[in-house]
Amino acid sequence: MLADSKKKILYEEKLYKFAYFDEVTDLANRNMLNNYLEKLIQNSNETDKFAVFNIELDNLRTINDTFGHDIGEQVVIKSVDILSELMKNCCFIARVTEEKFIVVAPACSDSKKIEERAKKIAESFKHPILLPGLDIEALFVIVNIGIAVYPEDGSDVNTLMKNSDLANYEARSTDDRIVFCSDQLKGRVEENTLITHKLFNSLQNEEFSLEFQPQVSCISGKTVGIEALLRWTTSDKKRIPPDKFIPILEQTGLIHNVGLWVLDQALLEHNRLIANGFPPLRVSVNLSVVQFRKDDFVDNVTKIIEKHRVDPKYIELEITESMLSKNFADTVDKLVQFKKMGLNIAVDDFGKGYSSLHRLVLIPFDRIKIDKSIIDNVTFEKKSANVAKIIITLAKTLKAVITAEGVETREQAHFVRDIACDEIQGYYFSRPLPTEALEKFLKEDGTGVRG
Ligand code: C2E
Ligand code: CA
Ligand code: CA
Repeated sequence: MLADSKKKILYEEKLYKFAYFDEVTDLANRNMLNNYLEKLIQNSNETDKFAVFNIELDNLRTINDTFGHDIGEQVVIKSVDILSELMKNCCFIARVTEEKFIVVAPACSDSKKIEERAKKIAESFKHPILLPGLDIEALFVIVNIGIAVYPEDGSDVNTLMKNSDLANYEARSTDDRIVFCSDQLKGRVEENTLITHKLFNSLQNEEFSLEFQPQVSCISGKTVGIEALLRWTTSDKKRIPPDKFIPILEQTGLIHNVGLWVLDQALLEHNRLIANGFPPLRVSVNLSVVQFRKDDFVDNVTKIIEKHRVDPKYIELEITESMLSKNFADTVDKLVQFKKMGLNIAVDDFGKGYSSLHRLVLIPFDRIKIDKSIIDNVTFEKKSANVAKIIITLAKTLKAVITAEGVETREQAHFVRDIACDEIQGYYFSRPLPTEALEKFLKEDGTGVRG
């Protein structure tokens, strides 16, 4: 009888441990954390504040993959030692996922002190973790720390945890390893969520349109090409800038259909202009790296071109160099197919960020577009002027044509023309225009109607 009740108690203890503690570290798990936070909030006065540190071991997965789970586990245990030592029993520590810890600091309310503490945590992980028997000199753990403060970042457990996650996500995706949750961050996430919802129906609801920005020849002064730029006006008549919605189109995969729609509409415009008596203008469309991931991308592009019967020599596809970093071979393969079809390829935003000449020589392209950030400074900074000249020499050596982008002033236009740039695109000549305004512009700049 006695043995039975002892067994029962042991069993219940085990069950309790399993429900509320992490097996590897003996720390509290998520359930225990929730209970703790709920009690803490219940017992808080109106003026009480406390901080939640959401700490992620950023490279634990890589450590697991490289050295095996046993080593990974030891790294986790060592990390707990570091955290416990630092918090000296003043905080509550929980392990909520394999690579994530939550530290609650009840007596920590002043944001300066909170930041100091976060910095201390980050610093204590700057030393290598030494493990007996491991045959490498130093194993470094990278931590990201997101911070949410009660009650401003959440007066209930769920909101508080969600916002600490948000701050941690931001810490992971930017170079700042410590990020406080802020109204700005919350606002941005809310806005993005809203945009994402709205985008799903935008194509069917005909909320997208195109504007066209003229590309002017430095020799003739006439428009020789137009770049199609996507515009989105929501059902409540708000215009959302492409920098905000295109990344979401990419994340959601909606870019596949929208990208093809852009090509379709751009070719429609090319033909419309010819039908209205204008000479054929080269039309360029921007491609996103995501579009290249679909096997039927080349086929779909081919179908659209055949449907509109546009001579491929009037079509240009703009790619950015950064998009070549992933699946390089496959992207190049698709670009080669486009080239074989007679389409032109332009390398967009050249000189913005890092440019790999190694990659550049391996891809087929006809044009380099010098990025606005270089053009901005050409007339008052010798360095930028020289960079522009070098890019032009490079392009000519590689037998490519050069367009200067974002040209806003007369001085910039003269400068790029004098260094033998071929074409100019920028507010100096024209902003991107809807179709009617484009026709008006073409008539005025002498690209006008034939005959
Ligand atoms: P981008 O391809 O570099 O396009 C040029 C951007 O520079 C356009 O901004 C244009 O309005 C702006 N711009 C042109 N000249 C000037 C100037 O003189 N001064 C200034 N300040 N800006 C100038 P926009 O239309 O906001 O487009 C932003 C980006 O969105 C584009 O940069 C492109 O990367 C992307 N985008 C636009 N349409 C599409 C599309 O259909 N598909 C994809 N994948 N991306 C697109
Ligand atoms: Ca472009
Ligand atoms: Ca550009």
